[in-house]
Amino acid sequence: MTLVYLGLGSNLEQPDQQLKWAVQQLAKQPGIEIAALSSIYQSRPMGPQDQPNYRNAVIAIETQLEPLSLLDVTQKIELDSGRVRKDERWGARVLDIDILLFGQQTINLPRLEVPHYGMKEREFVLYPLAEIAENLVLPDGQSLTELVTSVAPNGIKIQGNLR
Ligand code: ATP
Ligand code: CA
Ligand code: CA
Ligand code: CA
Repeated sequence: MTLVYLGLGSNLEQPDQQLKWAVQQLAKQPGIEIAALSSIYQSRPMGPQDQPNYRNAVIAIETQLEPLSLLDVTQKIELDSGRVRKDERWGARVLDIDILLFGQQTINLPRLEVPHYGMKEREFVLYPLAEIAENLVLPDGQSLTELVTSVAPNGIKIQGNLR
């Protein structure tokens, strides 16, 4: 079993419900167990500003799946949520599931880069992650505490919980 951290995000179609639904879908999958849930956070959009604020959360799962099989599962759940792929980068979406960390593995494949390339700069990843993984150290040796103190909260706030 590998401990994996997933970043969840939504800003369309009842975002809180989307995040909760995503957790339920993940929990149902063979080879995936939910290990920890952060609070739900409200955050500002990245990129285009003409879109609603986001809800974000980070969850920990234990999985027997290989990294690409897990990506297949998370992408299927995104599609099942009704997410439509648009040309605009970082545009509004019903559900986004990013694989942040996969154990201590470093993965550089066309479809999958782990640790997620943006996680070190994104307050809506680092703050919820710190809530469930206080003592985490990244594969490159950087501590999460160090990263959190280096990234401004940018108005992020706890808004609810995933249960
Ligand atoms: P960002 O990746 O900057 O957070 P995004 O989440 O909006 O933006 P998507 O359109 O959801 O980007 O994903 C684009 C592609 O990223 C996916 O097709 C997937 O193959 C690839 N990808 C690479 N690394 C990862 C990862 N760690 N987790 C999820 N997808 C990844
Ligand atoms: Ca399961
Ligand atoms: Ca993303
Ligand atoms: Ca994504």
